[in-house]
Amino acid sequence: MPKKTKYHSVSEKKKPKKEPVAIAAEKDKAKKIYHLLRGMHDILPKDEKYWQAFYNNAQQLAIYFQFNKIETPLLEEANLFIRSVGRGTDIVDKEMYIFEDRDGAKVALRPEFTASIVRSYITHGMWNSPQPVKLFSWGPLFRHNRPQAGRYREFFQANFEVLGAKDPAIDAELMLTAYNIYAAVGLPVEIRLNNIGSAAERERYVAELTNYYRAKRSYLCDDCRTRLNKNPLRLLDCKEEQCRPVRDEAPQIVDWLDEASRNYFMKTLEFLDELEIPYILSSYLVRGMDYYTGTVFEIYPAFESTPVKEGGNKDEPAAIETAQSALGGGGRYDVLVEEMGGRPTPAAGFALGIERSIAALKQYKEKNPINVATPAYDVYFAQLGEDGKRRALKLINDLKNSGLKIAFNFFKNSLKAQLEAANSMKVPLVLILGQKEVQDQTVIIRDMESGVQETVGQKKMESVLKKKLNKQ
Ligand code: AMP
Repeated sequence: MPKKTKYHSVSEKKKPKKEPVAIAAEKDKAKKIYHLLRGMHDILPKDEKYWQAFYNNAQQLAIYFQFNKIETPLLEEANLFIRSVGRGTDIVDKEMYIFEDRDGAKVALRPEFTASIVRSYITHGMWNSPQPVKLFSWGPLFRHNRPQAGRYREFFQANFEVLGAKDPAIDAELMLTAYNIYAAVGLPVEIRLNNIGSAAERERYVAELTNYYRAKRSYLCDDCRTRLNKNPLRLLDCKEEQCRPVRDEAPQIVDWLDEASRNYFMKTLEFLDELEIPYILSSYLVRGMDYYTGTVFEIYPAFESTPVKEGGNKDEPAAIETAQSALGGGGRYDVLVEEMGGRPTPAAGFALGIERSIAALKQYKEKNPINVATPAYDVYFAQLGEDGKRRALKLINDLKNSGLKIAFNFFKNSLKAQLEAANSMKVPLVLILGQKEVQDQTVIIRDMESGVQETVGQKKMESVLKKKLNKQ
């Protein structure tokens, strides 16, 4: 009998003292494992149905309301954003990915869409087209902020802009479009809105606001003390608990609006009433960019949600806190085009944050019966043997324009495994192609519900499948 080796436990004192994190980091380094950059996230196939739901609905509504798709570069001259979004805003002061490229040009990854769209409107002289110009975009944006629940450094937005017209109907149409996207995916939302007036009205209001906040300086958070000097309107944006009581007593901009602005605001509300869109007047809503004038709005989930602490699970799109996190927002920017070197062009738009919208949808779905459709396959193509595999790939390719959605897996070789896969994907029909069928130029069609099999010629395969699936 071999002698048993005795293992003795090493006393705690003798164990090398290394932090588990340091050990893991060392191992990772040895194996060259790369991690996601902080604040970045992968969009995984398991979430694809949510992404598709938002993209498809946004795109369909864009078509219905006659917005044309526009794609602008991820990289622009940094000054484009500095000038339009404005110094003193969080985006410009703290969050831009800004760097010199190899030619020494100061460039930035786009932190938002509107500035790029305005640049493009001017670059291509779009005032020569029939006005208004209605544009839809979808894509990633970059902000180097502190990652937390629902806040990433790369995130996606659906963005809608109407340039070249000013009318309460347009503002209402934009809010309706945003509202419709959520209605289409089944997420209840409400709109919070305000009117922040013209530059002159705002100037008078900001003077009053600054006086008010100066007197309360000692109650404010550090950021607000900076805002007081740099960009007082942003004081109303502060989410710190400590500053809330001060804000709640602050003067309200509606009281500084002249008659024209008030009328415009009233008319906008009449449209929303007619459309029966749920909205809340929010006198402290000012938005995070400097270019806004007149109507501003944000979209919030309209259901009870569980608050999530800062720093929530970084792998999952985190649940969000209803009161704090807007899903999207927008408003008018009637002077931006001119300020950026174009002709006087009133404009308005909005952007929806897709990660946050998906997080809210998932959260809502936990307690409410809504169905976000998973892309379904019509047919599973099962193959047997080398000849079967070769021929199957050819036939799958032949069906690519048929409109049928074909699933297959060449890594599975046994028929049993392939039928199991087909079963779990809930496809109604399976095609089976073995040695014999290759020789006879036929294929077996199996009805998964009844188990009935039928052999048909390969040339007739497409029409028989379509007939069985009622897709003629
Ligand atoms: P904004 O462009 O700042 O008006 O933001 C519009 C929407 O984009 C927000 O309501 C969010 O849904 C989304 N969003 C903005 N910043 C981020 C971020 N850092 N991470 C994830 N989503 C964001």
